[in-house]
Amino acid sequence: TAEAGRDFIRDIVQADLSSHRHDRIVTRFPPEPNGYLHIGHAKSIALNFGIAQEFGGQCNLRFDDTNPTREEQEFIDSIQADVHWLGFDWGTNLFFASDYFERLYDWAEGLIKAGHAYVDDQSQEEIRLSRGTLTEPGKNSPFRGRSIEENLDLFRRMKAGEFPNGTRVLRAKIDMAAGNINLRDPVLYRILHAHHPRTGDKWSIYPSYDYAHGQSDAIEGITHSICTLEFEDHRPLYEWLLDKLPVPSKPHQYEMARLNLTYTLLSKRVLTQLVRDGHVSGWDDPRMPTIAGLKRRGVPPAAVREFVKRIGVAKANSVVDVGMLEFCIREELNRTALRRMAVLRPLKVVIENYPEGQVEELEAVNHPDNPEAGTRKIAFGRELYIERDDFMENPPKKFFRLSPGNEVRLRYAYFIKCTSVVKNDAGEVVELRCTYDPATKGGNAPDGRKVKATMHWLPAAQSKPAEIRIYNQLFSNPSPNAANFTADLNPQSLEVLTDARVEPAIAESNSPDVMQFERQGYFVRDADSTADRLVFNRTIGLRDTFAK
Ligand code: ATP
Ligand code: MG
Ligand code: MG
Repeated sequence: TAEAGRDFIRDIVQADLSSHRHDRIVTRFPPEPNGYLHIGHAKSIALNFGIAQEFGGQCNLRFDDTNPTREEQEFIDSIQADVHWLGFDWGTNLFFASDYFERLYDWAEGLIKAGHAYVDDQSQEEIRLSRGTLTEPGKNSPFRGRSIEENLDLFRRMKAGEFPNGTRVLRAKIDMAAGNINLRDPVLYRILHAHHPRTGDKWSIYPSYDYAHGQSDAIEGITHSICTLEFEDHRPLYEWLLDKLPVPSKPHQYEMARLNLTYTLLSKRVLTQLVRDGHVSGWDDPRMPTIAGLKRRGVPPAAVREFVKRIGVAKANSVVDVGMLEFCIREELNRTALRRMAVLRPLKVVIENYPEGQVEELEAVNHPDNPEAGTRKIAFGRELYIERDDFMENPPKKFFRLSPGNEVRLRYAYFIKCTSVVKNDAGEVVELRCTYDPATKGGNAPDGRKVKATMHWLPAAQSKPAEIRIYNQLFSNPSPNAANFTADLNPQSLEVLTDARVEPAIAESNSPDVMQFERQGYFVRDADSTADRLVFNRTIGLRDTFAK
């Protein structure tokens, strides 16, 4: 189903189909394999693959692998896994810009022969300085007037590996006084003696982004080349190159806003540094805004797709409240996650009037809105755990949970009342002595008396120990400073609870699905779990607790 009207890009696509400017739409997602994908990329993925799906076209996955010093096979693999995880598929349309190196090179020779490109011997710094500023025109390079023969000879020797890194570049000969600085003789090729993951040591020159990107689009027959707003100023160069080269098709570039999110930084440079400097455990650390991090955290791909759909595609940059992503995660998990009980910070309870050695099985529902999810049994006995926070020895007025003399309901079980507390030498409460009312089985009193709180609990003997990792925002500043991001890191971004307890149904399941631990939030088993040490990540709490 075509969704014209949803955003300005889809409107353009629809108009181009209606006018027969194109009869089939071809888009591409063109990551550079120099890091893992983040949620900003998810926006681009959903847009490019989404358009292809909705309008019956094609979306290519193209690796923009033109900078071998930063690119690795690990990133190529992770990007493919992450696009699939998000629910999109390129089918057979997997491409690498490096597959076009030969053709790009031949076309560059063509530019030289037509007098549109020259070899410049200036240093990178000299070139930068001579390009001028917004208010000052650039200065022609002293090498700009070289003959075609000399340029061709030097360019071929650059290719043959004769010159060291950084000694020469190939530049387009456009206009050093152009208002748009991108047109002031941009660099097309640089010398780089580096091993490439796919082409090995074959090349000692590599094309620039501007030179490789548009030509790759043209080779693949891309109709709509969608990029982010920073590239708007590059569009005249994109078009200049397509105009001068014998390309097989003429793609058009469109720009949209980047996704920015509060409390995080969507920049591969920053994310790379977080990993390298050990601020996180890896690219898939659940605090990272990477797709791999979201996945490990338990975020369902459907929630990410819903989020990028809701934020839409705009022409102006903005910052999206991370609360919107969290809302989408909760919506999805509330619908799908099975309910379970876990006690994160246990406090022992002894039911004094429950017979020693006796155990009964109580029935608990797996999902309140979905009877088909069924029920499970939970053991109830004389020794239980409740959440430490659910008890106060000297409660304030509005505290309705357990306190001496007060009665509460244990979910799926009975009413209990606290009769006394046991303390250690330090004066801390280490155990509660309680009584239960056998007539309240299932949670209601035959005499109609009410309680104000229902609490989760676990049987002491049958529950299993677990480690639970609670994640908070990685940055404590809603708009972290990318230039000095370590100063904005949240020192409390990870809290590890080592003596949590979980019900047997949680421990026995190997399911990768997220569960709701009642009253606590959504949790997923972490890959660090072993047979005798279960580890869970909190995907998200039940309610918004920070983004006020
Ligand atoms: P970064 O700035 O994090 O290094 P990038 O743009 O250099 O990202 P690429 O691998 O070149 O990363 O990106 C692939 C595609 O994803 C590009 O088309 C790019 O426009 C898009 N993209 C990257 N970041 C975002 C974002 N925050 N929001 C929307 N699209 C993005
Ligand atoms: Mg890029
Ligand atoms: Mg980049």
